[in-house]
Amino acid sequence: MNEIKIEDKEKYLKEHYPFKPVPEVYDKKKCIHCDSVFYVGDYKVFTDELGEEYICCPNAPECDGTVIDWIAPKE
Ligand SMILES: [Zn+2]
Repeated sequence: MNEIKIEDKEKYLKEHYPFKPVPEVYDKKKCIHCDSVFYVGDYKVFTDELGEEYICCPNAPECDGTVIDWIAPKE
């Protein structure tokens, strides 16, 4: 997996986020793989060998969580 640099993280999120509604970059999410709470805008993007792009946990590559592993953090 190679990390790719996203220039406009808000625009990329709106175009690639797999669920509705698309969160704002300042929303907080929790990754159930590494248990950390982070701002959505801190996400990283990695590509696999097929060029498929994945929105990943800010702690990637140490954490293998992707956007589907994010839940709303408890207040
Ligand atoms: Zn994580």
